[in-house]
Amino acid sequence: MPITLPALPYAENALEPHISARTISFHYGKHHQAYVTNLNKLIAGTDMDAMSLEQIIHASAGDSSKLGIFNNAAQVWNHTFYWHSMQPGGGGKPDATLLKKIEEDFGSFELFSEQFKNAGATQFGSGWAWLVADKSGKLAIRKTPNAELPLTAGETPLLTMDVWEHAYYLDYQNARPTYMDTFLAKLANWSFAAENLKAVGKKKAA
Ligand code: MN
Repeated sequence: MPITLPALPYAENALEPHISARTISFHYGKHHQAYVTNLNKLIAGTDMDAMSLEQIIHASAGDSSKLGIFNNAAQVWNHTFYWHSMQPGGGGKPDATLLKKIEEDFGSFELFSEQFKNAGATQFGSGWAWLVADKSGKLAIRKTPNAELPLTAGETPLLTMDVWEHAYYLDYQNARPTYMDTFLAKLANWSFAAENLKAVGKKKAA
């Protein structure tokens, strides 16, 4: 069963004027597709070609002989999660339940925003900024280099922001902070984050 490129949850121009159709067409159509294509080449004929994407990530994480597989598998997962972390007309504050949880765990929504953007700004080179639920269920900010992701530490991602240059360079050039401000103000899909948080509650209750 080859790994397939999941459909974008909106049209390529749906995030304009904040992220252009040109950026999405390269980022989704070329970069995300390339991770899928490379992964399928790397797992063909191995015991991983019967695994789900998440199984491949866990089976290759931390194994230097499987770094290429891990990088491509994790980037397939990260990008699918990133597309869903944004929506047309998104940004601003989440609904009451998630907002209350953010205020409890970070002190205020403004402190959360600062920490999230700081994670993106201080991720040297390529990587990701994340809002996660840690193992105790508390919300936390993480940054990861390259393809790495919080799943391998047993944490649950709620929202992610791609800070690889290919995510913003065509629209913002080197102005990563402006891209990050725009992500939070205009794009963040808080209902997706709230759904992911609900799933954490269900797992804990099960
Ligand atoms: Mn990317």
